[in-house]
Formats: sequence, C-alpha cells, structure tokens
Amino acid sequence: MIALAEQNTSKTESKITKDRALKILGDEIPLTQILHESYLIRQEFFSNKVRIHVLDNIQNGYCPEDCGYCAQRKGGNSGIQEYPMKSEGEIFSDAKMAKEKGAYRFCMVSAGTGPNDKNIDRLSGLVRKITNELGLKVCVSAGILDENKAEKLKEAGLDRYNHNINTAENHYGEICSTHTYQNRLQTLEIVKKYKIGICSGLIVGLGESKKDIVEVAFELKRLGVLSIPVNFFIPIAGHAIKNPTNLSPELCIRILAMFRLVNPDSEIRMAAGREGHLRSMQAMGLYPANSLFVSGYLNVKGSNASETLKMIQDAGFVPEFEEGGFDFATEEEHLYSQDNIQNLYKYKRNNVSA
Ligand code: SF4
Repeated sequence: MIALAEQNTSKTESKITKDRALKILGDEIPLTQILHESYLIRQEFFSNKVRIHVLDNIQNGYCPEDCGYCAQRKGGNSGIQEYPMKSEGEIFSDAKMAKEKGAYRFCMVSAGTGPNDKNIDRLSGLVRKITNELGLKVCVSAGILDENKAEKLKEAGLDRYNHNINTAENHYGEICSTHTYQNRLQTLEIVKKYKIGICSGLIVGLGESKKDIVEVAFELKRLGVLSIPVNFFIPIAGHAIKNPTNLSPELCIRILAMFRLVNPDSEIRMAAGREGHLRSMQAMGLYPANSLFVSGYLNVKGSNASETLKMIQDAGFVPEFEEGGFDFATEEEHLYSQDNIQNLYKYKRNNVSA
C-alpha cells in the first residue's frame, strides 16, 4: 500500500508533498485507498456531518469582466436573465427559505467586478439582518474588495467571504483577460486582514493540467483558506473556454480527496457541476468532502434539496446544522470559533505546512 500522506494522528499535521498530491490524480493508487485515507481525515475534523449551502444569485449579469467559464461575462450571449440587485425583502425571504431547506450557510452572490458603495451598504445591512434574525451563517461573494468595503462587511458581522482563485496562476490568462490572478489574491489578503474567513476554491475542467490543480490546492493551503468549493466546469452555452478538460467521475473524486489530504481541516465542498460530472458516484464524493450546495448554482439548475438530503442520509452522513456545531474538545472549539479567526489563520499556517 502506498502511503498517501504521512498523516500525523494530531488534528493538524499533514505532510503530503506536491508529488504525492499529483499521484493521487493519476491511476497508480487505487481509488478505494484514496477514499479510505481521505475519509479518515474528514471524519477526524468533521465527523460524518455535511454542511448544506444554498446560493442566492442576488444580482445577475451586467458584468464587465470576461471570465470564460461564466454565463454572466461580457459578450457572453448566453441568454441568461439579467437583473439588478434584488430588493432586501426578496433576499431576506430567500434566506428564510434556505433555512427551511436545512441550509447551514446562505451564500449571497452578485455579479460584477466588485460592489459599489451603495451595494456594500445594502449587503452589510443584509448580513446583519439575516445573522441576527434567522441565526443563519452568511457568506458574501461580490468580487473585488478594498479595505473600506471589507471593514464594513466585518462590522456587519460577516464571517465568510467567497472569492475563488479558480485556477493556477500560470493558467489564469487562459480563462480571463480583464483582471489577473494577483487581483484576486489581493482581495483575499484584504479579507484576511479584516478577520473575515476566506472561502476560495477553483473550477476544474478549464483546460488546466493536473499539476495546476495541485498548485491551487497548495496555494489555498498557504492562504489558510477555511472553506474550499471545488467546482466542476459546466460548459454553458456561449462559454469561452478553449479546451475544456474531460472529467471522469473517478477523477472528480480523486480531486476532492487530494484537496482533503492537502487541506485536512478546511471545509471541502463538492460544488457546482457535481450532478453532471460525478453522476452516480456523488455519494462517494462525501467521503472526502464535507459540504455541498443544494438547489442549483449561479445560472444552472442543480439537484433539489430533498433529493440531496436523501443522498446524504442514504450514504450514512448527516446534515450539519448550526446548533449541532463541531464535536471538538474545549480548546479546539475556541480555536475554531469565529472570534478567534486571526489566530486560526496563524495556527493553520504554522501547523499545516507542506
Ligand atoms: S465570474 Fe464574476 S467577475 Fe467573472 S464574468 Fe462572471 S460575474 Fe463577472
């Protein structure tokens, strides 16, 4: 048996190297072995719980950027319905519905380069209201932020901001020409500075190499990312990805497992595209991954909440609700609490190194 990672029994050490991570994406190591090893780590940090996220596309289209995978990109002609930011009342009732569906986190996503001053005030008000009145965890994904905007979101009580790095630095120019990988990193550094937890992941299948996927996993580890959505490219009409990669269900699972082994204590999300790419093997994806989306993605329908809940339960996992929380010992509960987020970043940087 080839050891995948020299996994220490402590909750934070993983000594997996880039070479080993790359091997996981090949066919040298049996899939069952990879599933077993990644499941042990997943179990250690997240037991058998699954976090359910519900996305709300609060503003669609009108984007000046040209990300090739995105239906909302400039000149995309994808036929999506464009609309300005929904009213606060509409977004709040979407959040209520998400809570009723068993959501662990409600993700408000808006298209565009970044929010203007008016929208940052509206987003901050919504974060406050949803957190206080529904007790639901909130994530905002609104593009590039400056320090003032990050500060406002933090003051409103935001504990998670999503900004995906999407692909490896050396592949970024192939998927977007209107902003750079460095622009994205800069926003993540600002988010971190304001003690908001980072959610950042990638889209696989954009023509990147397996080595590129490994690079992203280690970059997210370097950044101390708390939540990693692993999206599988959905080739929507009008996309501009030149050579989409062929993704088999097995490769998708190997990718999820590699992210788990490289980032043992991060939330790994089987995100957009799981239905089409993992197909009948979706439940197996829960062995390495501990979270998923229900009720669809930005411009694509996904499986509904009841189907997904059934899949989770049939596979022997349970949905995690905020009340349930983690099963950590006292000092670990403190370590992972949102009040301690800056120390958690340091802890991950010092203890979870390549
Ligand atoms: S991913 Fe975001 S920034 Fe890029 S085109 Fe789509 S909406 Fe615009």
